[in-house]
Amino acid sequence: MKLSKLNRRQFTATLAAAVVARAQAPEQVVDCHHHLRRTADANIAHLDGSGISNALALARENSVAQMRELAEKHPGRFLGWFASADITKPEAEDLLTAAVRNGAAGFGEIKFHVEAAGPELRRMYSLAAELKVPILVHFQEVPHTPTEGVFSTGFKNFEAMLKAYPKTKFIGHADAFWANVSADYANQDAYPTGSIKPGGVTDKLLGDYANLYGDLSANSGNNALSRDPEFTSGFLTRHQDKLIFGSDCSCIDGKGGGIAQAGNPAASRMAGKCVARETLALLKRSTSPAVFRKLTWENAHRTYGLVARASTPARG
Ligand SMILES: [Zn+2]
Ligand SMILES: [Zn+2]
Repeated sequence: MKLSKLNRRQFTATLAAAVVARAQAPEQVVDCHHHLRRTADANIAHLDGSGISNALALARENSVAQMRELAEKHPGRFLGWFASADITKPEAEDLLTAAVRNGAAGFGEIKFHVEAAGPELRRMYSLAAELKVPILVHFQEVPHTPTEGVFSTGFKNFEAMLKAYPKTKFIGHADAFWANVSADYANQDAYPTGSIKPGGVTDKLLGDYANLYGDLSANSGNNALSRDPEFTSGFLTRHQDKLIFGSDCSCIDGKGGGIAQAGNPAASRMAGKCVARETLALLKRSTSPAVFRKLTWENAHRTYGLVARASTPARG
């Protein structure tokens, strides 16, 4: 009698442990907007905490050694990395070319106080095409703080760049890219709210240009896709082969700890939350399992060539 009670208790405990283990098993998802953190373990803490299997790191042109260490310490978790350099400096082209030769799979995040159609970014669009790598650009027309400034400005006229650089694979990201899903956006806020007016620049350009893709990360992506559920499901269906999941989350534990969204006051809706978790849940409830799989895995592999690089994330 006593034994059978114990067995039942043990059985219940084993079952409970199995349920917990299943709940904690990371989902096969690749976070393509993971800014490289200071230590290998800090990178893995965010992945594990948010229940994500893999990531692509947004690093710098000189991150080869750090990516190699990460690959050695945590094999297979990082499927590749993008390199960034100060594009306002004349050496940027040489540094980024060297980074790609050293294994970088793309340019990004490219976030500088320049015009989207200005000479600095035009040089990068050309170079990305020449090296056959994508370029991830942060578009922002409204500063979040008095001193922040704006980045890659003029998104409303970006069609001219898509036409001028047909061989460049552009990945659109951030406030202006996402606010422009609505046709009534006039650079009035960083993160506009309310229902979306169909016919926005972003929706149109994604439909018309094979060389434009969208990065779903950050408060900007989450905000845009939270405004109008009916619009969201149509948008995700329309562009199901061109949108790529990423978090751009700066929480430390994958559960919203630390400062999410790098202390950006305009993004306070994400305070105490992990953007990765929030956006994955949003995508899951807004689309089918097959489309979710494209957005969180397949599109990244195809667009960023992750399969070929999976075993050698940091060739040196
Ligand atoms: Zn950004
Ligand atoms: Zn997080």
